[in-house]
Order: sequence, then structure tokens, then C-alpha cells
Amino acid sequence: MENNNPKIIIAIDGYSSSGKSTMAKRLASRIGYRYIDTGAMYRAVTLFAMRQSMIDADGNVDADLLQQALPGIKIDFAPQPDGSQRTLLNGEDVEDEIRRIQVSSHVSTIAAIPFVRHALVKAQKAMGGEKGIVMDGRDIGTTVFPEAEFKIFVTASAQTRAQRRFAEMLEKGGNPSFEEVLANVVHRDHIDETREESPLRKADDAVTLDNSLMTPSEQDVWLLNQYTRAISAING
Ligand code: C5P
Repeated sequence: MENNNPKIIIAIDGYSSSGKSTMAKRLASRIGYRYIDTGAMYRAVTLFAMRQSMIDADGNVDADLLQQALPGIKIDFAPQPDGSQRTLLNGEDVEDEIRRIQVSSHVSTIAAIPFVRHALVKAQKAMGGEKGIVMDGRDIGTTVFPEAEFKIFVTASAQTRAQRRFAEMLEKGGNPSFEEVLANVVHRDHIDETREESPLRKADDAVTLDNSLMTPSEQDVWLLNQYTRAISAING
């Protein structure tokens, strides 16, 4: 879509597997914006730490080792011809690997470490320098871009979110049990909401969307309407 409107920052936060990435991605492609999946960045750091044996069997992280290694971790997004993008960890395509349940089960622990958050938030702020960006995560509207012109907070019941995640994993050839996926969703919610450093919470000026009973296309329509409304307000 040709978009001559002023370029803004769109922050989409919300719970795990709430479908926010799908709607964020589609809005970005519809309005010609760049899409950034910040969860993929935390997942890539987690995969790196797992591969380097920085996380033990009980899930404890060797924070000193990770801190030393962090400056050497480079995360990029490679755009694909179909409009999707693949996450690169030091040049390697890790898009499929970072979505596996093993990574999901450690990512919130890694994402609660302040020095990890500081480094990734800094990189995320730099990506938004020219605006025209849709960024999704947990703290975009509160910490990364508190000044974002348009903020959405997405939520749905844990059961609904786990069901969606489960279906997605089966489709990708995974073999998780539903109970395992539900437990992971609940566990991540808890860590994300209770961590000290920028916990998951709705920004005061965000619009809430509970999409428990909505189809993906209903969400697309809702989001596009909200965007149009936000732009009209800016244009006066
Ligand atoms: O969005 P996704 O579920 O892929 O994110 C994976 C994890 O990364 C979340 O459960 C959360 O712990 C962490 N995260 C975060 N802040 C963000 C994005 C993700 O803490 N901005």
C-alpha cells in the first residue's frame, strides 16, 4: 500500500502466543513499514547461551560467561521474497531452531537478565531511528519506545494462546504435548510479569485488544482501523 502518511513508531506488546507477531507483520507489510520481532532477538541470545553450555540442566545461567560473550553476538533479520524474515545469529539462519520448545523454556530466564535487556533495548532503539517501524515484544511501549505514537497491548486467555502455539508447532513438524505448551505459556507469563527489569505490562496510553474470540483476519481489520484512527489524530 502506498503510504504518504507521516511515518510513526507502532509498538505492539502482549502475552506469549497472543498472535501479536502475525498481526504486527501483516500490518507492517500492508502499510510499507519495517517489522521487528524483538522476541526473536531474546530467543537468539538464548540459543547462543544453550549452545555454549551457559545454561545448566536446572536452567541456571552462567551470567558472567554470557556477559563476556554478549558483545560478540550479532543478530540480524534477513527479509525473504515472500515478505517474511528469518532470524540470523552471527550470520547463521536460526529461525526454525529459536522457535523450538527447548528455547522457549529458557528464553524468559535469559530475558530477565538486566544486561541482556540493556543490550537488546539499545539495538532496538537504534532500529527505530527512522520510524516507519512496527515492533512487537513485551516492553516496546513502556521501555523501548515510550514515545511511540501508536501502542497496542494484546491479550487472550492462556488456554487459547497455548492452543494456538500447539497448532503452530504441530504444523511445523514438532511433537510437543498440549500440557507442555500450556505450562510453558503460563510459566513465561509469570516470569515476564514479575521480573524486575521492565516487566510485561500495558503502557498507560496503549489500546488493549483481547483477541480470544477473533480470527486472524478480524484482528487485521481491527488493527488497520486503529492505525487509521491514530494517523488521523496525528494529521489533525
Ligand atoms: O515474543 P516471543 O514469545 O517470541 O518472545 C520470547 C520471550 O522473550 C518472551 O517470553 C519474553 O520472555 C521475552 N521477551 C521480552 N521482551 C521483549 C520480547 C520478548 O522479555 N520485548
